[in-house]
Amino acid sequence: REAKGKLPRYPGLERWNLVEKMGDGAFSNVYRARDSQGVYNEVAIKVVRKFEMNSTQEVQIMRQLDHPNIVKLVEFSEARQYYYIVLELCPGGELFHQIVRLTYFSEDLSRHVIVQVAKALQYMHEEAGVVHRDIKPENLLFYPTPFVPTRNPKPRGPDDEDKADEGEFVKGVGSGGIGLIKVADFGLSKVIWDSQTMTPCGTVGYTAPEIVKDERYSKSVDMWALGCVLYTLLCGFPPFYDESIQVLTEKVAKGQYTFLSPWWDDISKSAQDLVSHLLTVDPDKRYDINQFLEHPWIRESGEETNAAA
Ligand code: ADP
Ligand code: MG
Repeated sequence: REAKGKLPRYPGLERWNLVEKMGDGAFSNVYRARDSQGVYNEVAIKVVRKFEMNSTQEVQIMRQLDHPNIVKLVEFSEARQYYYIVLELCPGGELFHQIVRLTYFSEDLSRHVIVQVAKALQYMHEEAGVVHRDIKPENLLFYPTPFVPTRNPKPRGPDDEDKADEGEFVKGVGSGGIGLIKVADFGLSKVIWDSQTMTPCGTVGYTAPEIVKDERYSKSVDMWALGCVLYTLLCGFPPFYDESIQVLTEKVAKGQYTFLSPWWDDISKSAQDLVSHLLTVDPDKRYDINQFLEHPWIRESGEETNAAA
């Protein structure tokens, strides 16, 4: 936690009292802030250096979006050197840190999380005509409201045992759990051209095939990422990893991943089936968002069992 005195002052942001730095991405500093006029609750302010990145597209897209699983834009302003993107605050922070904290999520907790991300994607892909293109645990934020899974994760791999001894597997799974999930960071997002109806530019008939094709695939980019997130939630490590970027790139290109033993031994075949339909190299064969939401593993919600417990 950074001390108050160390927080910078930004020109034009006088209304907001910065409380703490919440995160820094590649091109932004994000602060928790209070409204000195008392109109808004606490917010998150993403400060972007104009020199490094143009946020106008990001903000323009966010303005169009209205969904419970997407971080809301509160206000946008700019100074000579900065963009200020005032956002709904997600007090739980990044899903990423929760994976690290819990080592991995139970199937019920994973489902609870991934369904919400999928609902946001369904809204983006099917209603808003937007692709996110940067779905990853760092960009998935949450509200820490209680969720009670049917069972706590047990240690599985050799490394997991140490953490089990510290009680990590129980801590935070119940009442300290994850409530509402919000998709954040539209810095790489894009509007997709709807070849059926209207395009953002107006006319339809003049769109080149590579654009149409490109956009057909852009939704599937989010679905691949969704598969990577689901894989990571279930076992605690990503499907593709290598120290060398070259080797990693090659593995991704070939879709070379495995359900690594012993970590995947106790994870249901149904969950593995769903993951494999997302981590499919051919984008035409990869599940789209509706196929995802109709898969048995998603539909067999753990809710009945939860209610009984
Ligand atoms: P970047 O494009 O630099 O990655 P992000 O929008 O992802 O910027 O924000 C960077 C980090 O700041 C996030 O990963 C998260 O930790 C934090 N953050 C961003 N927005 C919020 C928010 N609305 N509530 C809480 N934390 C946030
Ligand atoms: Mg980010």
